[in-house]
Amino acid sequence: MSVPPILKLYNTLTRAKEEFTPIDPANVRMYVCGPTVYDYAHIGNARPVIVFDVLFRLLRHVYGEAHVKYVRNITDVDDKINARAAERGISIRELTEETNTIFQADVKALGCLDPTVQPRATEHIAEMIAIMQRLIASGHAYAADGHVLFSVPSMPDYGKLSRRPLDEMIAGARVDVAPYKKADTDFVLWKPSSGSEPGWDSPWGRGRPGWHLECSAMSWKHLGEVFDIHGGGIDLVFPHHENEIAQSRCAFGHDVMANVWMHNGFLQVEGEKMSKSLGNFVTIHELLHTEKFGGHMWSGPVLRLAMLRTHYRQPMDFTSKALEEAKKKIENWIRAVRITLGGEALALGPSSDVIAALADDLNTHSALTALDRMFNTSGDEQAKAHRQLGADLVFLGLASRSELKKPHVEASHVRADEVDALIAARIAARAVKNWAESDRIRDELVAMGVVLKDNKDGTTTWEVKR
Ligand code: AMP
Ligand code: ZN
Repeated sequence: MSVPPILKLYNTLTRAKEEFTPIDPANVRMYVCGPTVYDYAHIGNARPVIVFDVLFRLLRHVYGEAHVKYVRNITDVDDKINARAAERGISIRELTEETNTIFQADVKALGCLDPTVQPRATEHIAEMIAIMQRLIASGHAYAADGHVLFSVPSMPDYGKLSRRPLDEMIAGARVDVAPYKKADTDFVLWKPSSGSEPGWDSPWGRGRPGWHLECSAMSWKHLGEVFDIHGGGIDLVFPHHENEIAQSRCAFGHDVMANVWMHNGFLQVEGEKMSKSLGNFVTIHELLHTEKFGGHMWSGPVLRLAMLRTHYRQPMDFTSKALEEAKKKIENWIRAVRITLGGEALALGPSSDVIAALADDLNTHSALTALDRMFNTSGDEQAKAHRQLGADLVFLGLASRSELKKPHVEASHVRADEVDALIAARIAARAVKNWAESDRIRDELVAMGVVLKDNKDGTTTWEVKR
C-alpha cells in the first residue's frame, strides 16, 4: 500500500486546522450526534449526515474499512417526541420507529453508508445512571427534587469548546431558572417523569435523561472514555457539546472527551433561514419524492452533489438553481463514464487528487473540481480519465458501480428542435380541444423515448427516458 496521506482537520476545540493522529490507527473512532426522531428530517439535517459520511469514507480509505468505527446515535427519548406522539395519538415507540425508518431510507438515498453502530438512547439508561453516580461521587453533580444536576462551578475549565464568557452563559442559563438549581448555569442530567411520561427507575426515582447525557453515555459505551473525532452541526457547540464534554471529562477524569471536534456550517434555503412560517422548510423526503421544491423530484445523488459543492464549514445556500446545475453535471458525468465503460465493471479506487483534496479538511469543492477536470479530458487520455471519474463518483457516494455498468442508451436520434415542434403542434391541438391529435402526438413522442411533463404554469417540458 502507498503511504497514507497526511490528514488535516479543523478542530473547533483549538480553532486550528491540525494534522490528525488517531489514538489507535487500528481502531479510529468517530461519534456524530444523530437525529431526534419525531418528524421528517429537513435538508439542513442532511448536511452533517452527508459531511460526516464523506469523512467516514475517507477514514476507511486511509486506515482500512475494518479499522474505523463510526457511531451515530438515535435520540428516541425527548420531550418533543412525547408531545408529538400525544398530538398524533400514537405511542412513543410507534412514532420513533416510524420516524427512524423514514430517516434511514432518506439518508440511504443520499448515498450515505450505514454507520458502524446506531445506538438508541433508550437502550443506554444503565450507562447514564452509572455516569451520574460517578459525577455525584466526585462532587460534579447533585440530586435535588427528583432531578440530578451537573454542577458547572465544580469544573473550572467549563466552556473551553465554545469559549463563551461566563457572564454570557449565566445570562443564557437564567432563562431556565429553577428552585432546585444551586447555580444558574447548572444543567439537568435527569428529571422526574409523571405517570404518563416515559420514565425509568433510578436511584433518584422514576425519571428520564436530559439530551446531553444521552450522548455521553452512548459514546462511552461504543467508543470508550476518550475517542478521536466528535461531530455535529455548529449549533450544537453550545450548550450540547459543551455539556457532553463536561459530563464525560468529569465522570472519567480525562483532559478531553474527543481529540477533534468538527462542526458543519448552517444551511439556508434560497437565501433565508429555513422555517415553516416562511414556507421554505423542506424535508429530505419531499425533495426525493415530491415536486414541492423547484418543480420536480430530485435524485439522492443530485442533492448530495449540491451539498458537497460548498465546503462543510461554510454556510451554504440551498437553491433550486444549484440543484438544476448539479443535475446536469451528474448526468453528463454518468453518461461519459457509461460510454467509456460500455457495460464493463469498474474496478478502480479513488484518485490521489480526490484523496488529497479531502485530506485537506474535507475540501469537497476541490475534489469536485478534480472530477470536472477528468470529465473535460480529451484525446488519448480521455478513456482513462473517464474511468477514474467513475471510480471517484463511487468513492464519493455519487453513483453506484452497478449503475455505471449499465449501458448508455444513445438518445441522439431525438432532435431537440423536432421535439419542440411536436410539442408546439400538441399545444395548438389542445388549444382547439383536438384531444385525439394531442394524444397522437404524445404517443409519437413516447415512441421516440420522450416523456412529456405538463407544468402548472402552462409550459411543457420534456426528457428522454433511458
Ligand atoms: P436537530 O434535529 O435539530 O438536533 O439537528 C440534527 C443535526 O442537524 C444536528 O447536527 C444539527 O446541528 C444539524 N442541523 C440542523 N439544522 C441545520 C441546518 N439548517 N444546517 C445545517 N445543519 C443543521
Ligand atoms: Zn450529542
